[in-house]
Amino acid sequence: MGAAGPDISIVLPAHNEAGNIAPIAAAIAQAMALAGSYEIIFVDDGSSDGTLAAIRGAARDPAIRYLSFTRNFGHQAALRAGLRHAKGRAVIVMDADFEHPPELIPKLIAGWKEGAKIVATRRDDDGVAAAKRVSSQLYYRVLDAIGDVRIEPGSADYMLLDRAVVDVVNGIEDQDIFLRGLVRWLGFPLVTIPYTRGQRQSGESSFSAARMVELALTGIAAHSVRPLRFAIWLALGFALLSLLFIVYAIVSFLFVQHTVAGWSSLVAVIAILGAAQLLVLGIIGEYVGRILRETRRRPSYIVQETEAERRTP
Ligand code: UDP
Ligand code: MG
Repeated sequence: MGAAGPDISIVLPAHNEAGNIAPIAAAIAQAMALAGSYEIIFVDDGSSDGTLAAIRGAARDPAIRYLSFTRNFGHQAALRAGLRHAKGRAVIVMDADFEHPPELIPKLIAGWKEGAKIVATRRDDDGVAAAKRVSSQLYYRVLDAIGDVRIEPGSADYMLLDRAVVDVVNGIEDQDIFLRGLVRWLGFPLVTIPYTRGQRQSGESSFSAARMVELALTGIAAHSVRPLRFAIWLALGFALLSLLFIVYAIVSFLFVQHTVAGWSSLVAVIAILGAAQLLVLGIIGEYVGRILRETRRRPSYIVQETEAERRTP
């Protein structure tokens, strides 16, 4: 690898993108026409439409390589597999659905040639639904406040990584990664290029609200242990409240007649404490579950087929 590789690898995770494979490969070829030697790497993440067939067809072009998973392992796992398969001196990761415009590729490469080890992108959010825009801004702000990375709002997994960065990422053994956070945490010099999100050309988004929440939790758990500390603050808060409550109980016992009215306040205290305990248990459970996953050391994905097997008859 390395010396024999092309200048640029372009890695595209694809889950049910059958109609996008040939058009995006053509668009990338056009964008790369003047930009140096390249390879395209499609990662078929357990698609159930004709994505793998479309990729095999496209891979008759020797510039196109691919990996196919045994089942759906998720976008982040597909990115990771693509980074490991890539041979370029720089690797670009992008979506296969045209939401990450291929016309931006020459600008990413220019940023790299000017010396940035990471060329990130920022979606300018004009065309994006208000709910997605607000939730994404809020999320990155929270992560910035409690986590160990600063991710600009509008960041996605559309970026260029120098070989030095790719090698470091490939050596990191975390099972759960959040690539856009991880590469920033490394600390290499980074520039950011703005773009306007393109229109998905074919198929539909694979990210339901539940999967977005899952990715958001992965990002927080991968970059912060502060939610665990939240339990301590909560405990202190309730200790203070109960102190006030005891004072109130003593005062009412001494100075108010017929004080049997303790029932409702007791129930309220039990309910609040119960909810707080469940919340804290949930937070701890989230981290314990991740510890279990990490200690099992299972692979984050399983490859079933690559271009190499298809080409050696
Ligand atoms: N993707 C994937 N595995 C998945 C879900 C998505 O490889 O389990 C790919 C998908 O094909 C696309 C990119 O990841 O290239 C972004 O996914 P999608 O467009 O569904 O998400 P959205 O843009 O709506 O956030
Ligand atoms: Mg998309």
